[in-house]
Amino acid sequence: MASGGVYRNGGSQKPNNLRNSSSFKSKLPQSNVRRSTAVSLGGTDTVSGRVRVAVRLRPRNAEEMAADADFADCVELQPELKRLKLRKNNWDSDTYEFDELLTEFASQKRVYEVVAKPVVESVLEGYNGTVMAYGQTGTGKTYTLGRLGDEDTSARGIMVRSMEDILANISPQTDSLLVSYLQLYMETIQDLLNPANDNISIVEDQKSGDVSLPGATFVEIRDQQSFVELLRVGEAHRFAANTKLNTESSRSHAILMVQVKRSVTGSEANYSVENDSLSSRGNNYRPPVLRKSKLVIVDLAGSERVNKSGSEGHMLEEAKSINLSLSALGKCINALAENSAHVPVRDSKLTRMLKDSFGGTSRTSLVVTIGPSPRHRAETSSTILFGQRAMKVENMLRIKEEFDYKTLAKRLEIELDKLIAENERRKKYYDDDIERIRSEAEIRISDAERRFEEALKEEKVKCQMEYMESIKKLEEKWSQNQLKQVNNGLLREAHMDSGNGEVSELKRLLQNESHLRKIAEAELINLKDQLNRFTSPELSGENGDLVNLQRRLEDESRHKRKLEEELIVLRTQLSQMTIGSDHPGSSLDRDRRGYDGNNGERASIANLHEQVGLHKILSLLESEDASARIHAVKVVANLAAEEANQDKIVEAGGLTSLLMLLRTYEDETIRRIAAGAIANLAMNEANQELIMSQGGICLLALTAADANDPQTLRMVAGAIANLCGNEKLQTRLRSEGGIKALIGMVKCRHPDVLSQVARGIANFAKCESRASSHGRASGKSLLIDDGALSWIVQNANNDASVIRRHLELALCHLAQHEINAKDLIGGGALWELVRISRECTRDDIRTLARRTLTSSPTLHNELRRLRIDL
Ligand code: ADP
Ligand code: MG
Repeated sequence: MASGGVYRNGGSQKPNNLRNSSSFKSKLPQSNVRRSTAVSLGGTDTVSGRVRVAVRLRPRNAEEMAADADFADCVELQPELKRLKLRKNNWDSDTYEFDELLTEFASQKRVYEVVAKPVVESVLEGYNGTVMAYGQTGTGKTYTLGRLGDEDTSARGIMVRSMEDILANISPQTDSLLVSYLQLYMETIQDLLNPANDNISIVEDQKSGDVSLPGATFVEIRDQQSFVELLRVGEAHRFAANTKLNTESSRSHAILMVQVKRSVTGSEANYSVENDSLSSRGNNYRPPVLRKSKLVIVDLAGSERVNKSGSEGHMLEEAKSINLSLSALGKCINALAENSAHVPVRDSKLTRMLKDSFGGTSRTSLVVTIGPSPRHRAETSSTILFGQRAMKVENMLRIKEEFDYKTLAKRLEIELDKLIAENERRKKYYDDDIERIRSEAEIRISDAERRFEEALKEEKVKCQMEYMESIKKLEEKWSQNQLKQVNNGLLREAHMDSGNGEVSELKRLLQNESHLRKIAEAELINLKDQLNRFTSPELSGENGDLVNLQRRLEDESRHKRKLEEELIVLRTQLSQMTIGSDHPGSSLDRDRRGYDGNNGERASIANLHEQVGLHKILSLLESEDASARIHAVKVVANLAAEEANQDKIVEAGGLTSLLMLLRTYEDETIRRIAAGAIANLAMNEANQELIMSQGGICLLALTAADANDPQTLRMVAGAIANLCGNEKLQTRLRSEGGIKALIGMVKCRHPDVLSQVARGIANFAKCESRASSHGRASGKSLLIDDGALSWIVQNANNDASVIRRHLELALCHLAQHEINAKDLIGGGALWELVRISRECTRDDIRTLARRTLTSSPTLHNELRRLRIDL
């Protein structure tokens, strides 16, 4: 393929279906055909292209045959030498060289191929082209160019044949052909396709210098038939116009313009591909290249007018006008041939219209027609000289390419729409994909979270259990140690106090009593002696003294009886004490009761009570004799252990006396036993109120504060625990320091004490819970206010089942009241409640804990936050 736009002389680049044609052989040196580096709109190179000139000799016509029969032709053609000899006379001639010489025998086909075909090929390649016939009237210009060949197809002229070739080589889909047909007569341009349009103006583009005739009719040609028809119409109009103007067609110039617009594929296009940034993105983004070229076929008016102006009777004006265009053409060609600085293109309409054909970018071929007659030798000579000068005119052939942005825009728009649709499809696909991946990931994450959560929960529970186990073990160890210490202390104390102390005390008392009895007996003997002495005869006179003595005797007898009764009491007591001291633990119920004797003892005491009377026993509580007080309090305590006696004891003022013992005596034994008795009496609701009203709580608290003996504390704790079970007394109990005293006693750590404390707390919590559920109380638990919670939590899982059960219940009761929830969480009770709900061996407590945890919003939320499932 030839690189775009380079015109190759000799027809090496031809449309495929154009048959090979002979071509002009330039007589000028090859160096004259130089490539131009100038770049046109489409980046097209220009090449130099000299105007090619062929001479066609018309055969003699009939007239010449006759008139010139005796004369030789004035020209002799040597086609093989491309030479023409113009005879001057019989012996001399001038020789001229032309590009082609077409003898009288040259066929129309050959004339077309030699003269016009290379131009047509150029036009199809995108160059402008001009075929022009110049010559005297009657020499065959119209014959050469305009024959339609209706009768004889071989007679078809250049116009018809050019169109045939063009139509055969363009693509109707992408290319277009527009034809206009004009006549220039007396500097007026007429439209041969629309005769009414008889003064068409020439418009010159200031920038490009391109000439156009916007007023002319341009008919789109799609087939040969319509073109021939158009030529016929044009000819008819030309004839009519000339008739009207009373002139001949030979006086006017006929101009056929064929505008060819071709769409060129990328590889054929002329612009530099290497520099095309768009090429890398493929042909789709490259604007299609449009090649606009123009074939102008000019049938000039007869050239004889130039030399014979005004001849043959034509009006001077007309002749001038005809001369004007033709002579201007001659002047321009002369100027161009001589490389003159000024080319008078603007002198005439013809030269303006043919601006591109001579000295422009057009590929121009001139056919000079001559006749053989020696009579027209002068015209023939001037015609030949015109042709000779025209051969020197050098044109710069240039392809006019432009980017077809319109078509590109349309194509890109379609492409863009396709891409938008594709993009949308893909986006949808990606979105779906992303959504799918996201939801898969979510499922995986939540799976992992769930597994992690479960593992964490398991781990947590395990840790919790281990923690609780270790705490339990530590506490076990600690309480074992404590127990050991306490037992050691107790044992020592029991031995010393209960064992030795009490027995020796009783022995001492017994000795005392024995001694008193002996004194009483001695006194009795003494008195009997005195009585005998007074009852003797010698003393009968003294009646007054005797009466006095008798009264004293009666007194003494009463006193004696009393002593004997006391003696009986004391003896019985001594025997019971001895039994009691032999079994020190059995006298106390470990859980609920205060001071309690065994059945045997109680029976004896009951016996004693019957014998001595309750008042007598109670009065002994205030005895100045310490041992009598101790014995009395023990008896009262034993009696108080019997529910049947309790009312009687209270009625007889026993409770007051017992409280008084707590207040008055520092002896811990007395206080321990008194507290035990009070504890027993405190089982009764009426007694509880009585204890409270007599300041019992303060006394019990004081006793607890001073106590050294765990059993004293157990009694006090038992008493307070009983009071804790009375809802009416809760506020007072607390305000008088009952709870503080209760909690204070846990310092002792003796399990008996702790179980009483736990019982008290459970009682208190239960009453609070009951009060709040009945709307009688609304505030936070007083137990929490008084700081009991931490001990409750610490001991809620105590090994001693009694303690554990009480505290588990207490926690459940506290948790039932929503206002306590935060403190419970803060105090660590939640874990215990969870544990209770899971592990408690008592079904009712376990269920209660679970229900409480579920029903309390705060606890429930906390469980959720900690991700603990029940
Ligand atoms: P022009 O247009 O130059 O005035 P025409 O083409 O009208 O000349 O030709 C004048 C006459 O000569 C016509 O009758 C035409 O048929 C005839 N003629 C011209 N050239 C030839 C030719 N090469 N062979 C035969 N007849 C010709
Ligand atoms: Mg003619």
